[in-house]
Amino acid sequence: MADYTKMWSELGLDLEGHNALLSILGSAYGDIFLSQKNRPEGMKYFDFVMSEVHGLRIQELMEAKAQRRIVVGSYCVFVPEELILAVDGVSVGLCAGAEFNFEGAEEVLPRNTCALIKSAFGFKLGKVCPYLEASDVVVGENTCDGKKKSYEILAPMVKDLYVMDLPQMKTDMGRTFLKEEYRRFMAKLERVSGKKITPESLKMGIEIVNAKRAAVKRLAAIRAADPAPISGLDALLVNQVFFYDDPVRFTHSVNQLCDELEERVKNGIGVSAPETTRVLVSGCPMAVPNWKLPMLIESSNAVIVGEESCVGERGVRWLTESKDGTVEDLLDAITARYFSIDCAVFTPNPSRVEYVKEMAKKLNAQGVIHYSLQFCQPYIVESGPVEKELEHASIPTLRLETDYSQEDAGQLKTRIEAFIERLEKK
Ligand code: SF4
Ligand code: SF4
Repeated sequence: MADYTKMWSELGLDLEGHNALLSILGSAYGDIFLSQKNRPEGMKYFDFVMSEVHGLRIQELMEAKAQRRIVVGSYCVFVPEELILAVDGVSVGLCAGAEFNFEGAEEVLPRNTCALIKSAFGFKLGKVCPYLEASDVVVGENTCDGKKKSYEILAPMVKDLYVMDLPQMKTDMGRTFLKEEYRRFMAKLERVSGKKITPESLKMGIEIVNAKRAAVKRLAAIRAADPAPISGLDALLVNQVFFYDDPVRFTHSVNQLCDELEERVKNGIGVSAPETTRVLVSGCPMAVPNWKLPMLIESSNAVIVGEESCVGERGVRWLTESKDGTVEDLLDAITARYFSIDCAVFTPNPSRVEYVKEMAKKLNAQGVIHYSLQFCQPYIVESGPVEKELEHASIPTLRLETDYSQEDAGQLKTRIEAFIERLEKK
């Protein structure tokens, strides 16, 4: 990586802390990803993106800003990238997946806050996230109580925090409410960027994001093959890079990877032996560099064939209807698309478990590992009924709760191995 010290200093990063984070990230990446056998060639692009995730990509953001394009950071897949692209903005994900500066985070948040929120605060207080520092607007959303209340604490720490309210029930009132919130967000984006959203710019935004999601859906479908042509770790990485990379370049690279994987499938080439135990992971999102669980699963004689998560299927499953029409028509299409997302913050949320069953069938998964972050009420509460319903449908399910630390790795591994054995005997 080139020397980006000047750029990082200008962004106000704490260079010592940031170097420490990059060094941990780099060595974890080498151990977890580069050590995998028989990886597709197409993963080289994603290795490169990861090696430059705080370097070249940030430089690109700074260049975009110099051309008066705004950078919008967000923490949730309910924030429509289509609208950000419609003002020629750049959308970046801000969720963090590392146990960094939790001591700092716990000075402003209760200890029993989920690791995802604590990590975001740890990064902010430790001044180690160039994406957050480069953002002209940071969008918070009222989803779970943890996030909703923590944005009140985050507000004075960032340049411009915009809070998006979200419905909690899938009712007509909820849909109208969501559309009005998206209309309010459009006005905010127009104000900050100084650009007006037109039917043409919005349609272009929709098409770029649809193409990006379609490429990831293509990748997801290829994973139905046995032997699995790509590891769950690598597929997760693609889903994680989704939130950082330039969307058009990302789409091209995912499609190239898919071409290669389709060839692999034709030739019966896989990352693991045929009939390796196949597992689906469902639950909370896994932000970079949260790779603990997939690593434990895939080092236990199993392969992950799908992720029912916002960094996965829940984030890409629905496309927005792209049509000629007014901004109002397109806003309706965007609302319809996002209103389908079955996050556990909705009540009731029956479509989620139905889709887990459908995914297990489509991808020939033998069992489901339900993953909740500790203290995540929505997913932990939902995990009980989900397990019951999956087991009732003869889909063995293991419920796990964990955080970002490595302390429980041994215990988790024992439980995962016992579960895989159960699947092998089925
Ligand atoms: S799990 Fe829910 S709150 Fe979290 S990113 Fe997904 S939609 Fe947003
Ligand atoms: S993991 Fe759960 S508690 Fe944490 S931010 Fe997401 S929904 Fe909220």
